[in-house]
Amino acid sequence: MTTLFISDLHLDPERPAVTNGLLSLLAGEARAADALYILGDLFEAWVGDDDPSEAGARVAEALRALSDAGVPIHFIRGNRDFLIGHHYAERCAMRLLPDPCVIDLYGQPTLLLHGDLLCTDDLDYQQWREQSRDPDWQAALLAQPLAARLALAGQARAQSKVHQAGVGEAIMDAAPEAIDAMFRLYGVDRMIHGHTHRPAIHRTSVDGRPCTRIVLGDWHRHGWVLRADQDGFELAELPLG
Ligand code: MN
Repeated sequence: MTTLFISDLHLDPERPAVTNGLLSLLAGEARAADALYILGDLFEAWVGDDDPSEAGARVAEALRALSDAGVPIHFIRGNRDFLIGHHYAERCAMRLLPDPCVIDLYGQPTLLLHGDLLCTDDLDYQQWREQSRDPDWQAALLAQPLAARLALAGQARAQSKVHQAGVGEAIMDAAPEAIDAMFRLYGVDRMIHGHTHRPAIHRTSVDGRPCTRIVLGDWHRHGWVLRADQDGFELAELPLG
């Protein structure tokens, strides 16, 4: 049997092929999986669980159907959808996991995270991350009317584009010292994350210990899925219809 990992779909009404690709995965291959893990940035934007988007409703229905078919679904929030709350998770029948967390994957402790925690060279971003994860800040934001939150999300996306254009590629990637520190802190030798949109399986060594870091890919021209089983990993592209 296989456990599936996906992230960074950035579901957006402007890119229906990506939503349809996810729905195909959920109705097809995922039905035979041991579990599905979504490691953040499922949605391009999420302004609160009262978000009326059609994509949100369709995805919730499809995730719940997968769960009803006996496949457990786990979710780690990303930097785009960090406002996904217990209400939406309940609609999807998925379990929210802390970022980061360690799971037992076929007997092997494996660290899961969205991945933005590793981008420690981007100081402006880390400052924003800290602010936006503060429960009081989130409560104040969620207390605003939906229309105001949608407008703010639009502004935040525009600002993020300007920021990304202004900092170098290397700064937005996972920092080597942050990766090593994460392996040391959790004492694991495997981690899986997304966020950087640089899909790869990196084999490295930390203090002489062989370690593997798997980076999931973003869904754009095609999707990406990581299939894990007793014997190892396969990071594969998925065609989008
Ligand atoms: Mn991200």
